[in-house]
Amino acid sequence: MGRAVNLFATLDQAAARFGDRGAVYRGEQQLHTWSELRERALRLATSLRRSYAPGQRIAIASENRAELVELFYAVWAAECVVVPVNFKLHPREMVQILEDSGAATVFASPKIATELTPASPVVVELIGGLDYEHLLSAPPATVPSTDPSTLAWLFYTSGTTGRSKGAMLSHRSLTAMTVAHLADIDAPDENCSLLHAAPMSHGSGLYIAPYVLRGARQVVAASGAFDPDEFLDLCAAHPGSSAFLAPTMIARLVDTGRNGPSALRTIVYGGGPMYIDGLKKAMAAFGPIFAQIYGQGESPMTITGLRRIDHEGNDDAILGSVGIPRSGVEVTVLGEDGAPVECGQIGEIVCRGDVVMSGYWNNPDATRDTLKDGWLYTGDMGSFDERGYLTLRDRSKDVVISGGSNIYPREVEEALLEHPGVAEACVVGAPDPEWGEVVVAFVVGSFVVGSAADDALDAHLLDRIARFKRPKRYVFVDDLPKNSYGKVLKRELRARLG
Ligand code: AMP
Repeated sequence: MGRAVNLFATLDQAAARFGDRGAVYRGEQQLHTWSELRERALRLATSLRRSYAPGQRIAIASENRAELVELFYAVWAAECVVVPVNFKLHPREMVQILEDSGAATVFASPKIATELTPASPVVVELIGGLDYEHLLSAPPATVPSTDPSTLAWLFYTSGTTGRSKGAMLSHRSLTAMTVAHLADIDAPDENCSLLHAAPMSHGSGLYIAPYVLRGARQVVAASGAFDPDEFLDLCAAHPGSSAFLAPTMIARLVDTGRNGPSALRTIVYGGGPMYIDGLKKAMAAFGPIFAQIYGQGESPMTITGLRRIDHEGNDDAILGSVGIPRSGVEVTVLGEDGAPVECGQIGEIVCRGDVVMSGYWNNPDATRDTLKDGWLYTGDMGSFDERGYLTLRDRSKDVVISGGSNIYPREVEEALLEHPGVAEACVVGAPDPEWGEVVVAFVVGSFVVGSAADDALDAHLLDRIARFKRPKRYVFVDDLPKNSYGKVLKRELRARLG
């Protein structure tokens, strides 16, 4: 027991098995072998321990950089808690996270450090600077025996519905996530690569441990950002590439027109709705290489999932679902009375298992609302079908109740997106004296605004969904407001409606 649960064990194993092989790459350039990566992380861990006690929070605020891999492992080896901060946040929002987590220090890239230093409540360490190199000159640490409930990561949620909260993820939780990923979604080996395209502070960072455990190369784009052409070039340069991409990133890949690079092994998508139409286009462009995860910071990447093979039958009910419960996770749907509902009925999705967070950092009220009797209340609404596939409807807060009927915006959005003139659609409820709420659709597309456009969309929807679900109003916009993770901010759209 003990040490085996420290996530550092994943790197120990890779270094023992694949020592001289390439581990970390910036673009096409190899930076470190597995042995070197392990040694760098252990040297950093010694330096961290000299200044910080176990359990202290160490924040990281950086665009994607190769050093982040060694930093995560160094923090774990020092039994500290990593607090990755999304680099796209405003410095004020970053400071909020530093304060909320009580971080002892923050490692920042030069670019972020410039913006953050004047406002930061703690010392900002420059990643890759001279001081950083100095930290690497300490002797390698010995990794302690770590209790599985020790915190490893404070995962700040994207806060689409309010202020960001820190989900406490232990070594046990992230180990469960690692095992479930390898069991259900992708089983890479040492001849594979993980391309970090999404932010390593969140989506992509969670993938480090499973791919490290299997000795798959860690590849960070030289630009530190997601550029579809750079991404496709990297796929060609690195064998058996897998990556986690948010649905909007996949749409940008498809838009390049550079279809079917054979070196792409798996694209895992999730974190937000992938509409069937977009998924089919992506499969037509790149083949059956897609797998889906449904998770949240509170149950990192692991509630349900769809394997690659599940996509192959082109079955709309499956493609429109978020798949089946993941290994080691129990998932059920509860009605308003708190009891499990029948198959086909919609209710709140709850789950339990080792992967689930231990609570929100410093926020007992939010923890009490979210973790009850060992179950995580996800705040997502969904239903199971007879085959055991879960279909996500919407966040419970996003459901529109009009004239007493529940309308699930996602269904209306899916139907709108089937219209060739609609590029993006987002459906929200607006207060209405007669109906309680009415459906309003924000549409990005090629329409000449006016009654003809409204009529065309109405006619289109009448062929597809029940009359009462049709929007009472269409608002044509140039783009939809999104947060730094690319998630549409429904609350902003609602606010526009007054
Ligand atoms: P976050 O904690 O920021 O990762 O946000 C998690 C939320 O994103 C979930 O509660 C869902 O509402 C949504 N989400 C995650 N995965 C999916 C998915 N595969 N399909 C649709 N929505 C998703």
